[in-house]
Formats: sequence, C-alpha cells, structure tokens
Amino acid sequence: MTTPYRIVRAWCGRAADAARRRAAVAGQAVAVALLLSLVSVSCQTTPRPSRTAAGAEPDVRVRIIREAPSVRIAGPARVALRPVGSFAEWTAATPIDVRAEAGVLVATDAAGVERRFDQGAPLEVRAVAPTRARRAPGSRPPPEPDLLVGDRAYPGSLELHPRSDAGESALDAINVTTLEAYLPGVLTGELLDNWPLEAYRAQAVAARSYALHERARARLRGRAFDLENTARNQVFAGRTQHDAAVRAARDTRGETLTVAGEPLRAYYSSTCGGRPMGAGSIWPTGTGWEFNAAPPLQVDAPRATFCEASSAYRWQVTRTVEDVSRRIAAYGAANGLSIKALGAVRSIIPTEVNAAGRPVRFAIADDKAKTYTLNAEHLRQALNHAADGLPAPERASQVRSGDIEFEMRAREVVIRGRGWGHGVGACQFCMNGMARRHWDYARMLAHFYPGARIERLY
Ligand SMILES: [Zn+2]
Repeated sequence: MTTPYRIVRAWCGRAADAARRRAAVAGQAVAVALLLSLVSVSCQTTPRPSRTAAGAEPDVRVRIIREAPSVRIAGPARVALRPVGSFAEWTAATPIDVRAEAGVLVATDAAGVERRFDQGAPLEVRAVAPTRARRAPGSRPPPEPDLLVGDRAYPGSLELHPRSDAGESALDAINVTTLEAYLPGVLTGELLDNWPLEAYRAQAVAARSYALHERARARLRGRAFDLENTARNQVFAGRTQHDAAVRAARDTRGETLTVAGEPLRAYYSSTCGGRPMGAGSIWPTGTGWEFNAAPPLQVDAPRATFCEASSAYRWQVTRTVEDVSRRIAAYGAANGLSIKALGAVRSIIPTEVNAAGRPVRFAIADDKAKTYTLNAEHLRQALNHAADGLPAPERASQVRSGDIEFEMRAREVVIRGRGWGHGVGACQFCMNGMARRHWDYARMLAHFYPGARIERLY
C-alpha cells in the first residue's frame, strides 16, 4: 500500500525538498537521484523529530482500581487528603484505608481515626514529604515520595471517586501524574524485560502517542480518567526502575506520532504473525471514530516481518463444536446481534481477506441452514466470550487473533492461528526482531505507521 519512497517523503520531506532545490540549481538529474538516495539512507537510520515546540508536559489520569469497595494506601509516613475543590486538608498517618459507604468516602488512618468526606467530590490523596534535612545551597529538592497501592508504587497523586452508579460501596482509584512519569511503567508492562533499548524507544513513542490521543478524547467527553491501566488501553505497572524503560522514555521525551499535527492513535499489539490489519477494516470509522480512518493505520498489505520468535507466531487450539457454538451465540446475545440464534456450527470460512492474506470477515453456517457474518476481531472476541455453564477459556485455549482458519471435525473444531492481538499498527515482537537487526526506532515506526510524522510536542 505504501512504497518506501512515500515513507521517506513523510519522514524526511523537508530534507528531501532541500536536496531537490539544491539539485535543481545544479541542473543535474543524476545529482537529484544521488542526493535523494543519501537522504533516504540517513533518514531511515537517524530519528529527527520534525518540530520542537515549547509546550508544557501534559498530566495524565490513569484508572488503577475499578469499582472496588475500598483501597489501602501506604508509602510515605503521612499523606494528605482533600476533597477536590476544597482547601481543607486532613493529614493522616499511613497506611490509610478508604472505603465507599452509600456514595460517601470514609478514611481510616493507621491509629484507627476515622473521617467521613461527604461533600460528594472526589478525594485527592498526596504524599507528604518527610521533614527535610538541611540541604546544601543550590542542591535540588528530593523528589516527592511515591504512594503505595497494593504492591505497586505510583508517582504523583491519587483521586478516589465514589461510584454510586456501580453500587453503594464502590470506588475508583485514579493515578494523576505526568505523561513522562507514566510512560516507563507502560513500557515494563507491555514489553519483555530483556528486549533491546531500541524496541523500548519505539514502544515509548507509540505509547506516548496513544496516550495523548486517548487523553484528548477522554477530556472532550468529560470522563474522569484518561486511560485504564489494563490491555484495554495500555498496561501500566506503576513506578519502575527498569533501566531500558526509564532511558527510552527519557531519550524520546515529547516525541509523538502525528497526522496533520494531531497525535495518532498509535495502536499496537503483541504479534502480527506476518499479516497486518488495517484499522478501518475491523473498527468503526464514522462520527466519533474518525481516528480509525487515519492513513498510517490502514496497513493491510504484506510487509517485512520479524516476529517469528513469538510463541504466538503460529498456534493451534481445539474446542468442541458445542463450546464454539455456544460462545458465539452468547456473544451475539450480549451485543444484540442476530447470531444469538446460532445453532450448532457447521462451518466457519473467510469471505473477505485483505491484501496481506489476513481474514477480514467470516461466514458462520449452522445446522439450521442459516449463515451469519462476523468480522475477524468480533469473531476472536466471540470465541473467548463467556457462556452460561461453560468455564472461561483457559489461557492456553484462548483464540489469540482474528487471523484464523477452522478445521471442522465430528465433534471438535481445530482452530489454527497466526499472531496475538488485532494486528493494527506496531507489532511488539517485530520491534524486538528489528532492534536485534539494528533498526533504529524511527525506521521501525515508519514501517508500522507509514505517513505519520514524529513531532516533539513538548
Ligand atoms: Zn510482527
């Protein structure tokens, strides 16, 4: 879909234009070709963010606990609690427990002293730094201590939101921090520990772009948080000391994939299996979802692949016909689709395949001579969907991608698959393979998101 020339144009437009102008003055076509080839080589190996702006680093709000009855917060010896919008603050010894009671948040400190916050506002919790020893003149103050929730440390503060809509005793905990403090915890959550630094750098730029896109969207819709800490958005492991994660975020600070100056929703998944998917083929692109139509996310043709080392590069699971039929029907019922009436599955065959050979849509025929269609991503979800009386599929028997083919037997269905995840945008195991072949992160990102630019937004 995208030629190498277009990739070079997108990334090195200004350098190439300058080369053309110089060559035009010389009037030598050979010089044009030579200069352009030099530009392409250097631009594929040297990342150069195309703009430096003096913007401020954004904050980010990450939901780390969802609809829990209570939360325990530790960390520094003391924390300060304050309803958002109020000046009155309560300082308490840790650990503190905060629970939701009929929509009111009740905090209990280490000495058992209880305090009710019935203003209905979210509760902000921040660390109180220990009394500082005298510092040498000119030395920097020590960083604020992290808060501990469970066995994880979080930079920044917490916001606790009563969730009356989810029951009388439900609350959410949202970590409010800076984007650059958030990123290393995403990198350690998303990548394997021993991967090369360059793979971490590519992931840092993709994750930053995704986060900025989701942040803008959340705030437009008035949501209380920007991102979940799970694979629903990006896995976030809190504060980390992992060297490559910390360095990759620092080395790429502010660098963001953009289209027309706006952050790209830079999707990525674990293993493409060799056949990428275009976002517009499996996700909505209408009002409110226009971002799924961004040209850099539409790669659906063969591309160089480096993820053979993934255990999910090729995989196979066997399910019973009953299991497959009931899960797909349950998925249909949960989503209001006609396929909820599905009988016993007789065949599942692709009816549309993209230029890379990856199935886009399937026809599912049953023993009642009815045929239904589902797109590949919905079929993957359907095959892992809960159904009454069936246990959740074990990790080993989960259907990992929509790039699948089916062999029907008497009572069983053999499902053979490629890759893990939706296959849109970057492939993490490909990043690892590319880094080991000495690709730099800008070249990787041009490969995964052709036409996107890297801009340093702050
Ligand atoms: Zn791959």
